[in-house]
Amino acid sequence: MGKTQRIAIVGAGLGGAAAAGLLQQAGFQVDVYEQAPEFSRLGAGIHVGPNVMKVFRRLGIEKPLEAMGSKPDFWFSRDGFTGDYLSRIPLGDFAKREYGAAYVTVHRGDMHLLQMDTLAPGSVHFDKRLQTITDSGDDVHLTFADGTEARADIVIGADGINSRIREALLGVEAPNYSGWVAHRALIRGDQLAKYDLTFEDCIKWWTEDRHMMVYFTTGKRDEYYYVTGVPHPAWDFQEAFVDSSREEMYEAFQGYHPTVQALIECTEEVTKWPLRNRNPLPLWSRGRLVLLGDACHPMKPHMAQGAGMAIEDAAMLTRCLSETGLSDYRTAFALYEANRKDRATRVQAVSNANTFLRTQEDPAWVFGYDVYEQPLREGIAA
Ligand code: FAD
Repeated sequence: MGKTQRIAIVGAGLGGAAAAGLLQQAGFQVDVYEQAPEFSRLGAGIHVGPNVMKVFRRLGIEKPLEAMGSKPDFWFSRDGFTGDYLSRIPLGDFAKREYGAAYVTVHRGDMHLLQMDTLAPGSVHFDKRLQTITDSGDDVHLTFADGTEARADIVIGADGINSRIREALLGVEAPNYSGWVAHRALIRGDQLAKYDLTFEDCIKWWTEDRHMMVYFTTGKRDEYYYVTGVPHPAWDFQEAFVDSSREEMYEAFQGYHPTVQALIECTEEVTKWPLRNRNPLPLWSRGRLVLLGDACHPMKPHMAQGAGMAIEDAAMLTRCLSETGLSDYRTAFALYEANRKDRATRVQAVSNANTFLRTQEDPAWVFGYDVYEQPLREGIAA
């Protein structure tokens, strides 16, 4: 009897967790190696488009996510100074009918936990920071910072924007700092009651060079969240993010609509994150190593589709590996890239340009996409 074939996934973020769940469901033997010491409710709000909900349907977490999150009827865009409406993009029942699933906004950590709960017991290994990775041609050898090691037939790099797997494929190269930061703050829903103002379920306030995106992260509307994009000449900090302040927010959004001023007034804690990206990569896989999500196509978060692309990647990669079998991973990787690259690159470009839904456009190309309904385009094995 031959030995069991194994897939290793490095990184148990939103893309890695989706890949692990879908591959296990398809019958593959999967181990996930995550550098964090344990699971934690990281992050703040996240949008989950219908394109992503269709993947979650396969994982069996569509309904619980829909029940826990907020389901806005519209994505509004408004002029930050005057409050004039720039677009009213229908979601709610319209999204279900036209795009085939709900549009949900939720806490990222709550969604991540739902994803992690789909994984086979004992298949996620925490405190495993990948140090070296060697593709011998016959298999892949991984070593971790804690001195342990593992072997696998193929390795999926779902290890985010600073991916070690990307480095193994393409060499060391820091991501680009975009020149913008995101401020992020969670606000208690009960704080909003004191204002004679309307706080819409999902709204993006825009002016020429900056914006503030705001939405609820729970169906109960007890947690409201804002995330900004604001020019910031340089990022000189060593940390992944730093504390910001209410004062900095007032300065950045001077002259903005009273609703935005109220949100700043309610802010108890606000952090500031550099927005980084990369140009499209010349390759997505080599030998037994393949990339997905931010390891492969990181982007500014302005379409709220970065995790969406990671999760769609996970679904397409699973589809391709199921089609070819693990032994023919070369064909699977070529198919995967051929069927993902155009879409991921387009989303990356629109996201980086920050134009999505600013005006009354049709988002069907993003939200209507169903990764399972795409006829597979042939790829050329590397
Ligand atoms: P990550 O989520 O970064 O996961 C990588 C994982 O790999 C981490 O768990 C990390 O600990 C682990 N790891 C890294 N290195 C190693 C190593 N050497 N060894 C072992 N493990 C390792 N996307 C949306 O779809 N909707 C949104 O609304 C949205 N809003 C956003 C707002 C902001 C401000 C930002 C910055 C991003 C937003 N995104 C959004 C984008 C989204 O967060 C990312 O695209 C998504 O998290 C990428 O998932 P990933 O699994 O590829 O990478």
